[in-house]
Amino acid sequence: MGDQQRIPVMVPWLGEAEAQAAADAVLSGWVAQGPRVAEFERAFAERVGAAHGIAVSSCTTALHLALVALDLGPGDEVVVPSLSFIATANAVRYVGAEPVFADIDAATGNLTPDTVEAVRTGRTKAVVLVHQGGVPADVDAVAKYAAEHGIAVVEDAACAIGATVNGRSVGDGSLIAAWSFHPRKVITTGEGGMVTTDNAAWADRLRRLREHGMNASAAQRHASDKPILESYLETGYNYRMTDIQAAVGLVQLAKLDQVVARRRSLAARYHELLDGVPGLSPVRDPHWGTGTYQSFWVLLDEAYPLTRDELLAALAEAGVSARRGIMAAHLEPAYAGHPAAPLPVTERLTRDSLILPLFHTMTEEQQDRVVAVIRQQATG
Ligand SMILES: *Cc1c(COP(=O)(O)O)cnc(C)c1O
Repeated sequence: MGDQQRIPVMVPWLGEAEAQAAADAVLSGWVAQGPRVAEFERAFAERVGAAHGIAVSSCTTALHLALVALDLGPGDEVVVPSLSFIATANAVRYVGAEPVFADIDAATGNLTPDTVEAVRTGRTKAVVLVHQGGVPADVDAVAKYAAEHGIAVVEDAACAIGATVNGRSVGDGSLIAAWSFHPRKVITTGEGGMVTTDNAAWADRLRRLREHGMNASAAQRHASDKPILESYLETGYNYRMTDIQAAVGLVQLAKLDQVVARRRSLAARYHELLDGVPGLSPVRDPHWGTGTYQSFWVLLDEAYPLTRDELLAALAEAGVSARRGIMAAHLEPAYAGHPAAPLPVTERLTRDSLILPLFHTMTEEQQDRVVAVIRQQATG
């Protein structure tokens, strides 16, 4: 099958408006973190219902800063799902704390109060609640449970820009949340991330930490008519976003509702077309919210005649790029020897699920081709 007809798993929806915005930023002469980053932070925080947004270079760096804001360090345990992109667990190691893997709920792929409780110890200080693949976790239940045990909740909302919980945006009412603008996510700036929080003191500190711990930003010094002698208050990082990225982000953010609506309507069409295929369960919204379908995964069981890897091969043969399901960090060499409780649901999901193509410009004809392969293999 030729490359032209190959159906990709994901394509970001970028166009002339993003190209023009990037060009305008370049031509303005201000390309590093500046006024466009500040504007993107305000617009993004407002969209997700948070008081403050701190733009950074990725969701990975956003997670790192969120854990620094909570003053976590050696001796502290942070509960994370193993079923997540590995950055979720790695960020805990960055601050010297111990990631503790918890199992997940099979329907949503997310942590629940029960799965966290199964691994909680006296040293548990925080939980990183991932909205996996854009499926909203039961934030209210986890936040209530965490409050009862003095545990902080950091939300990894990398895939959940535009998801809702009980009628509110994910991020609205969060203690602290981390977001991604990688091209594989809902909206993109090439690379990029954001921290959101209602806590003004944390926001001030994280704004400094992303720029080497400096007490005055380049933009503040530029705007001042008197020389500002900066000082460096603590060991910081260079986690800045550029104004070129933020310019693209502002255009993407304005398209967010359209992007999410399109993803949800393609997902609904997959649900219809895949209905009744034996041994195959597609991801769905939980009863408490609406997801982004950043990853449209299907879980196979014994009633489906092929294994996950066999179905991936059949799809590839037919020119369809699917992907294995979400990874499990505890199975990777980076976590070899790291203690972990049994994680049966995590291991089943990572072994038996796959992610189907779903992108803004996907046509019905392309979607029909994906489903035809799955149905054909199901009937032998
Ligand atoms: C993609 C992803 C990340 C990392 O995002 P980057 O912006 O690429 O650093 C973290 N957590 C989850 C759940 C992700 O899906």
